[in-house]
Amino acid sequence: MNSADSIHAFVDAHRDQWLEEVNEFLRIPSVSTDPDRADQVDTAADWLADKLREAGCDEVEKWPTDGHPVIYGAWRKAPGAPTLLVYGHYDVQPEEPVELWDTPPFEPTVRDGKLFARGSADDKGQLYIHVKALQAWLETTGACPVNVVFLIEGEEEVGSPNIEAAVLEHQDRLECDAVMISDTIMFAAGLPSITYSLRGLAYMQLDVTGARGDLHSGSFGGAVVNPAEALARMLASCRNPDTGEIAIPGFYDDVVALTDAEREQWSSLPFDEAQYRDDLGVDALLEEAGYDVLERTWARPTFEVNGFLSGFIGEGSKTVLPAKAMAKISMRLVADQDPEKIMDTVESHLRSLTPPGVRLEVTRMQGGKPWLTPRDHPVLQAAGRAMQRGFGAEPVFIREGGSIPRLYLYVSSLAPFLVRSSMTSRMTLRANGDSAPVWISTTRSARVISSGLLASNGPSIPTSPSSPATAAAPTSRVLTASPSASASWYAMLRTVSTSAAGKA
Ligand SMILES: [Zn+2]
Repeated sequence: MNSADSIHAFVDAHRDQWLEEVNEFLRIPSVSTDPDRADQVDTAADWLADKLREAGCDEVEKWPTDGHPVIYGAWRKAPGAPTLLVYGHYDVQPEEPVELWDTPPFEPTVRDGKLFARGSADDKGQLYIHVKALQAWLETTGACPVNVVFLIEGEEEVGSPNIEAAVLEHQDRLECDAVMISDTIMFAAGLPSITYSLRGLAYMQLDVTGARGDLHSGSFGGAVVNPAEALARMLASCRNPDTGEIAIPGFYDDVVALTDAEREQWSSLPFDEAQYRDDLGVDALLEEAGYDVLERTWARPTFEVNGFLSGFIGEGSKTVLPAKAMAKISMRLVADQDPEKIMDTVESHLRSLTPPGVRLEVTRMQGGKPWLTPRDHPVLQAAGRAMQRGFGAEPVFIREGGSIPRLYLYVSSLAPFLVRSSMTSRMTLRANGDSAPVWISTTRSARVISSGLLASNGPSIPTSPSSPATAAAPTSRVLTASPSASASWYAMLRTVSTSAAGKA
């Protein structure tokens, strides 16, 4: 038996046991936002630490933070080989509304080959796959072809307020060549997906003020500038209604253009625009000349009014000329747009449009950089081959429209890039909504584990020199490990499912 066969056999032999272990993990209601369940969150942390030890990690630590602890685990006995850092989170979202669950959220139940429980797909299920992958390697071959570091936090669902401090404090322990995050969605059922880009975010509040106080429109209407109208005009001027383009000078300056190869691959994805409109209940979509839906949501920046408040909004009528108007706006950003620079651009545009008679106050609320790993990077190519070997289906390389600003800033600062991949159906998420569980099929997860384990056992993965010129952020560095070494990384690049929860 070669090592691929023996790992496969090991996985098969342990399938039921591992499923029972995942169930144990899922029964712990580690809801990070609920102070009454802090002890449960802690229990999940300890449970995970034990499992990392059991898997063969020779360093396992529980790092205290100002909130819930970070669990660190490492196996570093492959000198000279690259180090892969696996990021995950052991906390979950609250289970409410409980009445939408067919079975209790913390009592894992298998139906139709899917495992239903809070956290089964975000993120306990997939993070546990990585733990077991390491264990399978160590127990069958006595070693793993790559060094592996686990960084598992307990506060992802509350915005990761303490991951920055933990990473900074332990930076020397977290050195790695690549970061793997298994916390995104799969494009469609049965379609293995690798996400190589996320959008960034810039969020602002605009307050426009006119007269000292609200006025009577009968006495003052026609003589005083209305802040609601002024703000509405300013906002409306931010988009060209004919082309759909954002009409803020300089807004697109740093946008990295989509490549023909990307557009070609995306055009072959199973995406039905009519169905999409139907699901949303709209008869038409916002257009941007020259870009289809996937391109607009994955690779183009946006301008959105998230909220607008002014004047009288109660029952009945009141002829008020309001003194104030407020809007919250946000921009999703793509590589290489910088949130601060974009907020400068937007602010100066809005100031130039502010009419005499009202004042504009701008508050910058949050910003996060976009992330893009060059599509032709050797790591992505190798990941694709590994995925294909495991699934028997060619993976798709996709971007996502969402953002994880804090994670980007602090976790990705550890390594050249992130590779994220996952296996949950977007349709499943849509059908079940946020409060519902997604799946881990027992057979699928075992297959995934084994495919991950097998990845480095096939023929060596050819790699090509990367062209990292489009790396998204200034903090992105270029892979320096030798291409031949990178082939073996994919032993660990395996993952299952996730939910949309947790993304900004
Ligand atoms: Zn998550």
